[in-house]
Amino acid sequence: MVCTSVSCLWTIFCLHLCFYVNTGIAQNTREVILLDSKAQQTELEWISSPPSGWEEISGLDENYTPIRTYQVCQVMEPNQNNWLRTNWIEKGDAQRIFVELKFTLRDCNSLPGVVGSCKETFNLYYQETDVEVGRNIRESQYVKIDTIAADESFTQGDLGERKMKLNTEVRIIGPLSRRGFYLAFQDVGACIALVSVKVYYKKCWSIIENLATFPDTVTGSEFSSLVEVEGMCVNDAEEEADNSPKMHCSAEGEWLVPIGKCICKAGFHQKGDACEPCGRGFYKSSSQDLQCSRCPAHSYNDREGSWRCDCEDGYYRALSDPPSVACTRPPSAPQNLLYNINHTTVSLEWTPPADTGGRNDVTYRIICRRCTWEPEECFPCGSNVGYSPQQSGLTDTYVTITDLLAHANYTFEVEAVNGVSDLSRTQRLFAAVSIATSQAAPSQVSEVIKERVQQHSVQLSWQEPEQPNGVITEYEIKYYEKDQKDRIYSTVKSKSTSATVNNLKPSTAYVFQIRAFTAAGYGTFGPRLEVTTKEESTGSGEQKTTVISSEQNPVIIIAVVAVAGTIILVFMVFGFIIGRRHCGYSKADQEGDEELYFQFKFPGTKTYIDPETYEDPNRAVHQFAKELDASCIKIERVIGAGEFGEVCSGRLKLPGKRDVSVAIKTLKVGYTEKQRRDFLCEASIMGQFDHPNVVHLEGVVTRGKPVMIVIEYMENGSLDAFLRKHDGQFTVIQLVGMLRGIAAGMRYLSDMGYVHRDLAARNILVNSNLVCKVSDFGLSRVIDDDPEAVYTTTGGKIPVRWTAMEAIQYRKFTSASDVWSYGIVMWEVMSYGERPYWDMSNQDVIKAIEEGYRLPAPMDCPPGLHQLMLDCWQKDRADRPKFDQIVGILDKMIRNPNTLKTPMGTCIRPISPLLDQNTPDFTSFRLVSEWLEAIKMERYVDNFTAAGYSSLESVARMTIEDVMSLGISLVGHQKKIMSSIQTMRAQMLHLHGTGVQV
Ligand code: AMP
Repeated sequence: MVCTSVSCLWTIFCLHLCFYVNTGIAQNTREVILLDSKAQQTELEWISSPPSGWEEISGLDENYTPIRTYQVCQVMEPNQNNWLRTNWIEKGDAQRIFVELKFTLRDCNSLPGVVGSCKETFNLYYQETDVEVGRNIRESQYVKIDTIAADESFTQGDLGERKMKLNTEVRIIGPLSRRGFYLAFQDVGACIALVSVKVYYKKCWSIIENLATFPDTVTGSEFSSLVEVEGMCVNDAEEEADNSPKMHCSAEGEWLVPIGKCICKAGFHQKGDACEPCGRGFYKSSSQDLQCSRCPAHSYNDREGSWRCDCEDGYYRALSDPPSVACTRPPSAPQNLLYNINHTTVSLEWTPPADTGGRNDVTYRIICRRCTWEPEECFPCGSNVGYSPQQSGLTDTYVTITDLLAHANYTFEVEAVNGVSDLSRTQRLFAAVSIATSQAAPSQVSEVIKERVQQHSVQLSWQEPEQPNGVITEYEIKYYEKDQKDRIYSTVKSKSTSATVNNLKPSTAYVFQIRAFTAAGYGTFGPRLEVTTKEESTGSGEQKTTVISSEQNPVIIIAVVAVAGTIILVFMVFGFIIGRRHCGYSKADQEGDEELYFQFKFPGTKTYIDPETYEDPNRAVHQFAKELDASCIKIERVIGAGEFGEVCSGRLKLPGKRDVSVAIKTLKVGYTEKQRRDFLCEASIMGQFDHPNVVHLEGVVTRGKPVMIVIEYMENGSLDAFLRKHDGQFTVIQLVGMLRGIAAGMRYLSDMGYVHRDLAARNILVNSNLVCKVSDFGLSRVIDDDPEAVYTTTGGKIPVRWTAMEAIQYRKFTSASDVWSYGIVMWEVMSYGERPYWDMSNQDVIKAIEEGYRLPAPMDCPPGLHQLMLDCWQKDRADRPKFDQIVGILDKMIRNPNTLKTPMGTCIRPISPLLDQNTPDFTSFRLVSEWLEAIKMERYVDNFTAAGYSSLESVARMTIEDVMSLGISLVGHQKKIMSSIQTMRAQMLHLHGTGVQV
């Protein structure tokens, strides 16, 4: 630069100027600088037109850093038009450009000799282009931004005062649409020094706010515009639900109005603007939680960044347990389990477990299993069993289990469970009891008849319940005045199926209900019967003062009846005839010693009709058996094989009735007409019977194939197999209960005039309530069918061991011969299915019987029962008891269980005259071998000798265990030997008056 006369003035100015330029300029972090003339240390090389106009001059700032300026001062000549154009400035993202000019301007007045043409302003222009254009400046292509005037101009004298005269002006251009632009300065005759030109735009710089990163954002094009920006969550953070992070970039490059936020994910917590993993032994289960927490009790983790802690071995977390709670474990077993059996109802009670596992949601569940006896196998009880209040989820420590089967073995497990029990793979802990139920209570007394209604008394009679399930020893009659508010009940008891309730008010409605009682307890009350007593009228025939209760001695009743005279008797007979709705063979009439009210037997007893007397056997079937629609029968499985085909179990669903379990006997395909007749003959017979101890026929299917006989289902199958399976498992009362049922069924059959001919335990069926029912009916074919039946010299097949002498010898089959068979059934029952006469041959059996030998008492058999057997085996059939008497004797035994006690737990038989005659007198033998020969067990002589049993005295002391220890494995032989030993003991007792100590 050449300093002219005027220019020389500038040198000083320039030095001072440069001192001020750099002070006070702070770096604004929101700005993106596109051009900063001050920052450029080499020549700017802008275009000056004409070249004599603007001049580039170098200077130094206060740090002696060189700076580049442009100056013009053509104030002496008029009509100046000096242009200065910057280099091309690429605008980048910018839309709104800031141009900051720093300049000084000389006061025209201070310039000597300069008038008129001197200016104190300059003009600022811009030109938008996409690319750099040539070096020519075409004024018309420039858009004026503004005329820039100095706020402060300076004079020569100012320099001496060191006053700041630097002007700063900022102008904004935009919105711009091309890639770049030029700026141009037009001087029209001023004295200007352009100290710095800075071109920039504004940005909101990347920021992390609320754990979200907001990127660099260029401000909007308008001064007032806000640019909305979505934030991105930092690592390991996530947006808060419905609250995504946003911010707004203002025109000034400031972030404004933050909305929403990010939060650290589960397993991470916030540290500054980042998310850091939770440390070991800590967890954070949710992004919502602020802090990591220490693992709760019985849990751990050994990695960083966990959202939960794992449970220690043996501890668990229920699905519903939040990760913040301690891990827990299943409770220990309930304690002090107690039970109480009431027939087929079991109550269980217990105390809570010692360890609840750390939870307070302990409940209890009951697992019920029914177990077979041998082999012992247990099965779930199924849905027929009732639980009160419920089976599982019990919060109280007791439960009542109802509707169990009678005489069954059950195991109940009481398990304490809590929320983690089902997760645990460790062994279940429970308290358990095994329980054997007793007999079921009788079913309802449903048919009650008012026999006689008086002013002060009502006489009622009823039918024995359908399912007595044992011997009914008593009935209870409950009654109350119908209109009485507080329903005070009175009860009266009766041992028979009738009773008179006395002391009633005249003209009063009473409600009566009756229930039966057996050894198993009371059944449920039957339906209500409403009876209104007669109006009071003076002079009535009723004896008001006479109070007859069925509790009273029957003798008194007879006396009262006698006093009441013939009128009452006639009335009773009349009432009986009129009121009676049942045939004379009603059981009530046959009940032993409680039959004083009705001693009258009426003709009209239903009798059995031999189907063979029908010419057309089909007619017989349809007369006695209901034809069933095959579609009502569902066969489920095969349970046995009959002579004519398979026996199946299944279900029968008759319209409007509940479906019932049934046994279905089928007639195999390819049958002959005779086979069909014989097959259906059983149905024709069975269909005539209706008794709780006789198997009930549901109906037949003859109009389809296969031909079927449908019978009530007897769950426990035939009695002999059932007893063998449960050897030794019943009480004597239970066994006698079974015998009583069979006798009652036989009494019914004999009353109807039906002779069974093949009564044997194998032909008795047992249901789930242990009720025994007589089955297997037919004529001669029944016996053909029986594998026990053998041909006898008299012709025809006979089950010799069960058959009476006269029937074997001359085929005299009567109810009395059925009684003989019944005696054998008694022996089978009391010996749990032992084969009568063991393995003796049929011939030997016949011979022994003819010679007077009778089966000895089975082990543990009460003497009274054996005596009854012996009575059934009386040679003269007229001497045998009738079934009616047998039922009576058994009932008495059941009512007085003391009579069934066996001395010392074994059956020391009184020596019956019959046995005396025919049983060898073992006391007369000297050698063990002689005795064994006499009982046909000589094969075991060596066994006895080897074991040191040399005298009969030592043999008489043997127990069943001793016999077994000799190596005698056949059960029949063991029993035969044992039975003989018992007889021997009894004979010794008889002889010496002392027993043998066992
Ligand atoms: P049966 O032809 O009467 O001798 O019957 C053959 C087998 O089928 C019997 O031994 C029983 O095991 C079985 N059975 C027969 N009737 C019934 C029934 N009503 N309920 C259950 N099982 C039965």
